[in-house]
Amino acid sequence: MLSSLSGIGVAMLGGDQRNLLVMQRLVELGATVKVVGLPVSESDRVVVYEDIEHALQGVRAVLLPVPGTDEEGKLHAVYAKDPLYLQPQHLAQLKPGTPLLVGVARPYLRKLVERYKLALLEVMEIDEVAILNSIPSAEGAILLAMQNMPITIHGSQCVVTGFGRTAMTLARMLKALGAHTTVVARSPAQRARAWEMGHRASDLGQLPEVVGRADFIFNTIPAPVLHREVLQRMRPGTLIVDLASAPGGTDFGCAESLGIKAILAPGLPGRYSPRTAGEILADVIPRLLIEAVSS
Ligand code: NAP
Repeated sequence: MLSSLSGIGVAMLGGDQRNLLVMQRLVELGATVKVVGLPVSESDRVVVYEDIEHALQGVRAVLLPVPGTDEEGKLHAVYAKDPLYLQPQHLAQLKPGTPLLVGVARPYLRKLVERYKLALLEVMEIDEVAILNSIPSAEGAILLAMQNMPITIHGSQCVVTGFGRTAMTLARMLKALGAHTTVVARSPAQRARAWEMGHRASDLGQLPEVVGRADFIFNTIPAPVLHREVLQRMRPGTLIVDLASAPGGTDFGCAESLGIKAILAPGLPGRYSPRTAGEILADVIPRLLIEAVSS
């Protein structure tokens, strides 16, 4: 049972539909949410600000959008009229130790958090969230695959690179749709698990041979694994859906020059299943905040 966030001021800067669900849950738990860049109406516990500096005054915690900022500090803020930049002077006004929650932190944000000794919490790195989030991610990847190929997943050859939280769900879903699935992973334990789940399993070193018979390749490895030597071995018409965090694991320029269609597919849960993705966060974030502000 969650205890309350009564009287706790939380700043919510930018975001998308997911943040609206989180905000609602925080308000239900008694928090006062100071919002910038979201289409919400003011109420007893929701205060809307035009600028970040004022929204941060006196708050006990800060909530950033799932993708956080880019390398210039620009916040992901789909509803904001003008771009929102999180600048050093904004974070400088927070007390050291203030919890700052984000999906994934880029180096820009990491540096600032370190400089001002804030408590960074990367929500997407928490197993519970990453595993639940793998469901809309996998469904989104399959949707893109279907939209971009003239064949069914059923009966196709699907290669999934990596076998972590996202890949495991994706490979299972592809198999359930009738695909012939091959998992390529460097970890022997992950390959053993893939085999146990009914997939073919190969070491990363075998990737050039494995891709030669693929119709679909789904990459979840955040490292440059689909490079020229691998791409050259693919058949014309193979589709790559690259889920790995930016810049992905594919040499996109090379793929294009070889006539291989490769799609970088970031943010699938927010794009295709924003309500589910928001509900996952709305379940977890209040608990994290309660723990963080009471520690
Ligand atoms: P994860 O559980 O950590 O799994 C990552 C997988 O990649 C593991 O099999 C890992 O193997 C492998 N890997 C990592 N670095 C590698 C390297 N240098 N060489 C070979 N294998 C490597 O991560 P996840 O939660 O599944 O997420 C995977 C990626 O997808 C991340 O980049 C994440 O940000 C992204 N993602 C994207 C979306 C989207 O909407 N596009 C949604 C969710 C996640 P080891 O265990 O051996 O390291």
